[in-house]
Amino acid sequence: MLVEGAILDADGPRRAYVRFRGGSVVETGSLGTDSSRGRERKVRGIVVPAPVNSHTHLGDALSVREPPPGPVARLVRPPHGYKFRLLAAASAEAKLRALQGAFRRMARDGIAAVVDFREEGVEGVRLFQRAARGTAIRAVVLGRPLRRPIDRRELAELLRVADGVGLSSALEESLATRTVVARACRARGKRYGLHASEARREPPESYLEPRPDLLVHLAKARRSDLEVVRDARVAVAVCPRSNALFGRQPDLESMERLGLTVLLGTDNAMFHAPSIWRELEFAYVGSRLRHRPVSAAFLARSALVEPWRWLRLPGAARVGPGMPVPPLVLRLPPEDPAYQVVTRTTEHLIVPVAPRPAERRVR
Ligand SMILES: [Zn+2]
Repeated sequence: MLVEGAILDADGPRRAYVRFRGGSVVETGSLGTDSSRGRERKVRGIVVPAPVNSHTHLGDALSVREPPPGPVARLVRPPHGYKFRLLAAASAEAKLRALQGAFRRMARDGIAAVVDFREEGVEGVRLFQRAARGTAIRAVVLGRPLRRPIDRRELAELLRVADGVGLSSALEESLATRTVVARACRARGKRYGLHASEARREPPESYLEPRPDLLVHLAKARRSDLEVVRDARVAVAVCPRSNALFGRQPDLESMERLGLTVLLGTDNAMFHAPSIWRELEFAYVGSRLRHRPVSAAFLARSALVEPWRWLRLPGAARVGPGMPVPPLVLRLPPEDPAYQVVTRTTEHLIVPVAPRPAERRVR
C-alpha cells in the first residue's frame, strides 16, 4: 500500500509518501520522487506514530453512569470515595470484563500503549494484565500497594509484576510512604508517579520530593510551579476532559511556552471513554474557551511523540522502516497535518494497513 500525503511525527509535519508491506513501513520519501508500482493500492492521508494514552484508570470502566454530584475528592479519593466503593463491590469477573471493554475501545482508536494507575494492589495489577492479554496494546501498569505503612514484602511483590507504582497524591500519602516507594521503584528500574495539584494547589516541593517519573494533572499549578517542574525534568500527564468535569483546566499554554514535557491521558474510565482523539480535540478547544490557546502541534506531540520517549521507545515516534510500533494511517487531507489530526480524527478515519491483532483475537 502506498500512502501519499503527509507525515506528522517527532520530526514535525512534512509532505511525503509512505510505502507499507505486510503492515510495516518499508519506505518513505518526498512526494513526487516515488515511482508508483503497478497496481499498488493508493491512499491519500496522514501517517502518524500510533498514539499513547498516558494516564488512565481503566478499572473504573465498571460504571458508565453519570457521576453523582459533588467534589472530585468525594468521587475518587481512596479509600472510601464513590469509585473505591464501586470497585470493592464488584466481582473480579465484572472488573475483567470492564477492563477488556476498555482495551477493545482503545484498539479501535488505534492506541498502541497505555499507562494505567491500577488500584487494588497486586491482584489489581494481575487483573489488568489478564485483560490486556491478546491485544496489541502495550499495557504499562503502575500499581498501588494496599498496606500503610508500606509492607516491604507487598511492595516487592507488586514491583515484581507491575511496571511501577502510581500513588494518589502527596496530600494522601506521607513523605515516608512516597520515599519508600520511590526508592524501591528506582532500585528496580521501575516508574513512580502520582497525582498533583488536581483539586487544589500543592507546593511543588511536596510532590517533587522524592522526585517522581510522572506527575498527573497540575490543573491548579501556578506558572512558577510549572517552572519548578520543568527544571526538575519531570514529565506531566494532563487530562483536560477529566479536569473540565469538575470545572478546572490545566494551563496548557504555559506548559507549552515553558517547555514542559507533556503527555495526554483520559483519566477515570467511569467519566470518559479512553479515546485519545476526543481528548485531543477537547484539549485544543478547551484551551481557547479559557483564552489560554495551545498549538495543535504541541498537543499532537503530547499524544504521538513525548509518551514514546517516556516509555524509552523513541523510535516509535519516527515514521520510517524498522519502527518498533507500526504507525497509523489517517484518511485526512495533508494540509496542516497537526491541526487535522488534533481536531478531526475519529476511529473511522483509520485506514487498516494489516489485520490488527487486537481486533482479531479479542472479542
Ligand atoms: Zn488519575
